[in-house]
Amino acid sequence: MPNNPKTDWNAKRHPLLLMARLFIPEDSIDNNQVHISGDDAHYLAHVLRLGTGDKFQVVVPAAQEYTVVVEQISGEYVAGRIIHTVQRETEPQLVLTLYQAILKGNNFPLVIQKAVELGVAEIVPLFTGRTVVKLLPDAVPDRHQRWQRIATDAAQQSERIKVPQVHLPLPLGEAVKRWQASGSPGIIFAARATGSENRNLRNILTQLRPTNQLALFVGPEGGFSAQEAEIAVTAGLQEASLGRRILRAETAALLACGLCMYELDELVPPDETEARNAP
Ligand code: SAM
Repeated sequence: MPNNPKTDWNAKRHPLLLMARLFIPEDSIDNNQVHISGDDAHYLAHVLRLGTGDKFQVVVPAAQEYTVVVEQISGEYVAGRIIHTVQRETEPQLVLTLYQAILKGNNFPLVIQKAVELGVAEIVPLFTGRTVVKLLPDAVPDRHQRWQRIATDAAQQSERIKVPQVHLPLPLGEAVKRWQASGSPGIIFAARATGSENRNLRNILTQLRPTNQLALFVGPEGGFSAQEAEIAVTAGLQEASLGRRILRAETAALLACGLCMYELDELVPPDETEARNAP
């Protein structure tokens, strides 16, 4: 069958770089057939203007990724056939949870988007004493849905297999209890020393090696109060510094995620990852 002239230019480039990639639920696949409707069908048919014979990729989150060839397409419904199972190692072994105080304006969505690109497994939004954003209970479901959508889009764009979950916001005290119950090591970032001795992040991470899970707590624009930091440290979180300058909360969150991924060996090139995971 001839290729679709609308998308023929795709063929000249690297196929994996240009193929559309969608997260779909497992029940969208029946044997080797894929059935897509709703916004995703609209996106494939009208935004990407795919036609029969064109290929795209689908990911069943936390399971498998496939290349699919379009067999039938309209703005309401797309049917395709799986022609290839994609092997991709984009998930870190480190299960990193970011407990991030809700930030003003677009900074919280920014943190979600970038943290997902950096490989976090989940994000727990926090209400703290100095959180400026006042979210009325009625507004939480919409806001939460929007945050999850941002995480899903970022996971799709950064070629992840798992979609990190953005949880419902928790007050700091409850979040600390949640972290304790997880059994994971945890670090709280405080811009100013509160009396903890070993605040050197590299030393802390070296002592934690090898760990496959870690939680990071980052404060709001005004920081954690001394009392909050004390509660967290008493509960077992280790306090760490990100250096001598005071960083904006969004900078601190993303730097912390990146540094932990780096120090715990998650930022290695893809070929080294495959070698590391080989039996
Ligand atoms: N005036 C606030 C204070 O003294 O805590 C500054 C808060 S800072 C803008 C926002 C958050 O980013 C902090 O709560 C902390 O989690 C993190 N942060 C910023 N700079 C940091 C640093 N140098 N070391 C550790 N954490 C930092």
